[in-house]
Amino acid sequence: MSHNTVRLRLHGMTKHSVVVLGAGYGGLMAALRAADQAEVTLIAPSSRFTERVREHELAAGRPDITHPLSTFIRNKPVTHVAARATTIDPVRREVRTDDGGTYSYDRLVYALGSRTKGYRGCGRVFTSENASYLRKRLDDGPGTLTVVGGSLTGIEMASELASAARDWRVRMVTAGELGPSLSAKGRAHVRSVFAELGIAVREGQTVTPEEIDSDVVLWAASMTPNTELAAEAGIALDSDGRVAVDATLRSVSYPDIYAVGDAAGARTETAGPLRMACAAALPVGSRAGKNIALELRGREPRPLSFRYYAQCVSLGRDNGLFQFVNADDSPKDTIVTGRLGALIKERVVRWTVFALRHA
Ligand SMILES: Cc1cc2nc3c(=O)[nH]c(=O)nc-3n(C[C@H](O)[C@H](O)[C@H](O)COP(=O)(O)OP(=O)(O)OC[C@H]3O[C@@H](n4cnc5c(N)ncnc54)[C@H](O)[C@@H]3O)c2cc1C
Repeated sequence: MSHNTVRLRLHGMTKHSVVVLGAGYGGLMAALRAADQAEVTLIAPSSRFTERVREHELAAGRPDITHPLSTFIRNKPVTHVAARATTIDPVRREVRTDDGGTYSYDRLVYALGSRTKGYRGCGRVFTSENASYLRKRLDDGPGTLTVVGGSLTGIEMASELASAARDWRVRMVTAGELGPSLSAKGRAHVRSVFAELGIAVREGQTVTPEEIDSDVVLWAASMTPNTELAAEAGIALDSDGRVAVDATLRSVSYPDIYAVGDAAGARTETAGPLRMACAAALPVGSRAGKNIALELRGREPRPLSFRYYAQCVSLGRDNGLFQFVNADDSPKDTIVTGRLGALIKERVVRWTVFALRHA
């Protein structure tokens, strides 16, 4: 078993070690920010960053939604370890990985994201996590595809697949109403696009995949945070199963552990509890990384400041919905739709990668 203590002596000063678990939007941003003041070890199984917000595009035929991690971390004191974290020992301040490695830390960032709740995807049931397999299945031949879940991810999946796989009949089943987070105008726009694309919607129906008579089921009902590792380590979780953090994003049980992204139960006074979104993961990751740098310079970490501005929804490649929202994410009446909505959404998605490259 290797034992890596990444604490270096540079110009007579001790360089602190920060370990970041997960290289999604939150973890990668935190790693890049913390690198201003520390040697960072970024632990994630893949050597590529996945643009998870494009998983519906991958399912619809986009060839690649990843970028080499090396292009984000070059020229920074960040070392990527291609492994999966298996254990956290918050008392010894160590992380162990599935390749037998042990990594000591002064500060840890927990950024393991989330996954589709309830189903991992097998047989005719798929989730966004296995979008590339869904792509192959759709290529195999036409039939019926039922998307379960009428929130933003389900809406993006259904409209993207209905426009790309024209020979498939796409339907949606949802327990509540279609697009519950949208304004009446926003919902009306989604309905009109669905009608144009021939997507039939059944609302108010709670189903299991077994009950659905469909060649393919895409389960997009809800997300759950990847916090099993935190729970096993005795790190406190909140009532939603996310790592419980204070206003500066430190774990309430172990203040040398920060949590960011979907796995973190972050909140602000203006926004309330933050939903699982890339829109939150980037600023939260940035604040956590900056706070670590502040702490390691002997200064006080600062509270997260965050508010919402809009929800961006793609409805295929040629249509979109830009829904303006209040600070707490509740919808305003103002929306931008059509090609302009699609263009804004694409710009926002590109900006996320740009922000990481220039962090
Ligand atoms: C189809 C789809 C569309 C979306 N569209 C939008 C959108 O338009 N706007 C928006 O704001 N949000 C959107 N989201 C949500 C957004 O993708 C997530 O909120 C965001 O990815 C969360 O970032 P994160 O850094 O917390 O986690 P992730 O991006 O999920 O990254 C988690 C990281 O942890 C790694 N990991 C997992 N387990 C381990 C382990 N044991 N050891 C080491 N590493 C591990 C993973 O490999 C990955 O690198 C969408 C999601 C989906 C599925």
